[in-house]
Amino acid sequence: MPPVTAWQEVAERIWVRRYDPFDVNVTVVAGDHGVLLVDTRTSLHEAAELRRHLAELPVPAPTAVALTHAHLDHCLGATAFPGIPLFASRGCRETLTRHGVAEKERWLTWLDEEQQVHLRASPIPIPDHLIEGRHRVDLGNRDVELLLLGHGHTDHDLVLHVPDAATVLAGDLVEVGAPPAFEDAYPFEWPATLARVEALDAEVVVPGHGAPTTQALLAIRRQQHAHLAALCREAVGGVRSSASALVMSPFPERTTRVALDRAAATTSRSTPGA
Ligand SMILES: [Zn+2]
Repeated sequence: MPPVTAWQEVAERIWVRRYDPFDVNVTVVAGDHGVLLVDTRTSLHEAAELRRHLAELPVPAPTAVALTHAHLDHCLGATAFPGIPLFASRGCRETLTRHGVAEKERWLTWLDEEQQVHLRASPIPIPDHLIEGRHRVDLGNRDVELLLLGHGHTDHDLVLHVPDAATVLAGDLVEVGAPPAFEDAYPFEWPATLARVEALDAEVVVPGHGAPTTQALLAIRRQQHAHLAALCREAVGGVRSSASALVMSPFPERTTRVALDRAAATTSRSTPGA
């Protein structure tokens, strides 16, 4: 199903819009005196369109921006919103600072010519409000909690929780309509991190990509990730072949291959958890 092309109010004064390329989500959370924009698309060009779409909403322009993580499809439009706080995890800023330029070069190989031009013209954002652990943003009669709940899709996934609306923005810890992406992931830690997201007990879950969903999908994903982590542990420990893990995996073959590679790489740096 192609992304919807309109804002969807998923909870009171929380709007999500799905964008191609990548079926990536942008979310707006509004309070009485503040409006938080979460994620900013892949380029300044795309963010200019986003700014026009933001004007359709019955709320003022964003007063702050938050980035769920450093992958460029979520953050490279951020410099289109200058002069307001840019929230992200400290790890997100470190990743953008250390690897942002090289990552842009890597992305260029995947994009068509027009997208390449837009990507080149988009500066790497440098978040200036850094989250370590948790932080509360007061939007006026509404708080948003910015939470680091553990490694998963990356080592710096920021989860946003709006308690009064029972809504969680999970970033790419959860995707809908696509398998999880393991290229920078921590397969052994991902299930426990998802359990912490689940413990927030939200009714509405906004994934990083795809249609907004519910708490029920969190439980399914956690179980799938736990299953995959067990397979990875056995494969890394030499008690299961990679071929067997690929067959047993709840995720597609290519996804599982990347997860197995990441499991081996992260095991060499640390002992996998139980
Ligand atoms: Zn991502």
